Amino acid sequence: MKKTGYHEITGTIHCLSGLRVGGSDELLQIGGTDLTCVKHPVTLRPYIPGSSIKGKMRSELEQWRGKFGGKDNNEPCGCKECLVCRVFGPHKQARHDLGPTRIVVRDAACVSGGETELKSENVIDRKTGTAMHPRKIERVVAGSEFSLRIGVQVWDLDAACEYNGKTGGDALIEFVKDGLRFLQQTGIGSGISKGSGEIEFRNLMLNGTPFTLVK
Ligand SMILES: [Zn+2]
Repeated sequence: MKKTGYHEITGTIHCLSGLRVGGSDELLQIGGTDLTCVKHPVTLRPYIPGSSIKGKMRSELEQWRGKFGGKDNNEPCGCKECLVCRVFGPHKQARHDLGPTRIVVRDAACVSGGETELKSENVIDRKTGTAMHPRKIERVVAGSEFSLRIGVQVWDLDAACEYNGKTGGDALIEFVKDGLRFLQQTGIGSGISKGSGEIEFRNLMLNGTPFTLVK
């Protein structure tokens, strides 16, 4: 088993709407402010944890390929055979022959904007029409930008991989690009269905060469 290549995808994550990363939607005090927007401990600027980007990409790719795990099909895939498992690692499988997780997603530092706003959210009581559980959530303002950096390592084990007409390491890269495309369709962070987390990737490059996502 031998590592045969390393590719880097870089770019900018541009927030088209407010972005909310790190907050829990469920466990909030009534009337309280959810100040759990993830911030760098020293600079106090918000950032997007690489694990958030990676987890969302994985879940999008699993949805598009119909790959789920767990007894209720409610967990990440652990089949040890599909491309999701190869690229992201099989879920809860300590023993497998896929080799190391291929994708490395770095924390996305804030490079522009980064101010936060408080957005009011509540649930409307269906019978009385009044607001229940009013609360304020903190989110990063629209227009903010974060740096995207993803590494894709290729091993000799990947030589026979195929995806979208590509093989080997190129197949893995196509797969990751599709993950980015799906992420752009839905968004990042929490509150997506309430209008947060809409993003657009800009200035995407593969090993320094510009590319665009296939629509
Ligand atoms: Zn799988």
